[in-house]
Amino acid sequence: MTDRPFQGVDADDLASCVACGLCLPHCPTYRTTGSDSQSPRGRIALIAGVRDGALDLDGGITEAIDSCLQCMGCMPACPSGVRYDRIIAPVVEEMTTHRRGSRRRRSLVLSPLGRPRLLRLVTFIALLAARLGVLPKRFGAPPLSFGRAHARCAPASSGEKIIIFSGCVMDAWYGHVHRDTHAVVTAMGFSASFSEPALCCGALHSHGGLSARAKNLEERVTAELSGATLVVNSAGCGAHLRALFSKDPQRPTKVVDVMDFIDVNMDRLLAACPPAREGLRESVVVHDACHLRNLLGTHLAAHRVLGLHHRVLSVPDDGLCCGAGGAFALEHPVMAREIAERKYVAIDTVVDAGVKFISSGNPGCIGHLAANKPSTMSHVSVVHPVQLVARMIASKQGSEGAGVSDQRRF
Ligand code: SF4
Ligand code: SF4
Repeated sequence: MTDRPFQGVDADDLASCVACGLCLPHCPTYRTTGSDSQSPRGRIALIAGVRDGALDLDGGITEAIDSCLQCMGCMPACPSGVRYDRIIAPVVEEMTTHRRGSRRRRSLVLSPLGRPRLLRLVTFIALLAARLGVLPKRFGAPPLSFGRAHARCAPASSGEKIIIFSGCVMDAWYGHVHRDTHAVVTAMGFSASFSEPALCCGALHSHGGLSARAKNLEERVTAELSGATLVVNSAGCGAHLRALFSKDPQRPTKVVDVMDFIDVNMDRLLAACPPAREGLRESVVVHDACHLRNLLGTHLAAHRVLGLHHRVLSVPDDGLCCGAGGAFALEHPVMAREIAERKYVAIDTVVDAGVKFISSGNPGCIGHLAANKPSTMSHVSVVHPVQLVARMIASKQGSEGAGVSDQRRF
């Protein structure tokens, strides 16, 4: 037995990297720093060196690994099929386990998740701090959303029962997105309810290497929701739940992102609520959440669905991560902001085309992009794509005088 670090990483996974560097343009930390140690290739080489005993796990290597967003932007770009997710996950877990300070800090930050009352209390305090101007803007205060419009169409009948995953952050901070998700799914003729109680799936804990707490939360979710059809409106949760339930073939559970669900069932939406002849045709930039693009591979669904009623503008950024990365923006605020600025440089190339919305299917991305939006884009709203679908339906109903009860806040 050896007590060298990183023995939990598969040697074959490490050896599959041929150091070609084709992943580098897709890595946000490499693009921001220009440093090879902050690239997939560099990190893999460092992990392999430590694992083999050729390198000591010093502060530089620790920082190189800590600064990985785990966005997995490197995986689809890799012609050798390197499973970077299988390499980085055990390394982060081991490093978090053996560094008491880092473990405690992450545990503290994530402690409200999975504890709805505590999360609501923290949310209330954060909102108050934001209102008083004492919460740094980079933290992306949760949005206040009162007086939601309800998307209403004559629903077709369907026997399929859908459960919308409540989650923790989505439930406490993005109630308006939940309401719009429910409105759209029911407008499509499905019977839908929210998962109760509001469970945390453990995605952020797993991302931060807090495996024991993640396991605890995951067990509760699988016990409560196995066998259901789950519609999820948080990309990070969706990818985590998909991976989690795929381990339990005995009780098949379908996990689908809400925009993928709408895309697959588009005929239902159009049949129940056909688009207006002119449509909305406002311009929207779709920021592909990393989990949708790099892990689930369903990011184009939002482009297709929104494209029915909006002008979807292409941004020349190769699906670059926005810099949110779970708790990354809290632990690496400077780099997280620099990555977001890079994202906005790309968005700026199309802003003259009249961009009105930036949409993203992940709460972390919505908050981070909103918090770092340049003042020149104050007219642009950062929203979840399902909000635009609900708005499209509400607009259609309004145009027919079918009663949209109030105005949507964007
Ligand atoms: S991870 Fe893949 S793309 Fe990147 S250097 Fe290694 S082999 Fe090349
Ligand atoms: S997961 Fe993201 S930040 Fe980490 S090496 Fe890959 S592309 Fe870079």
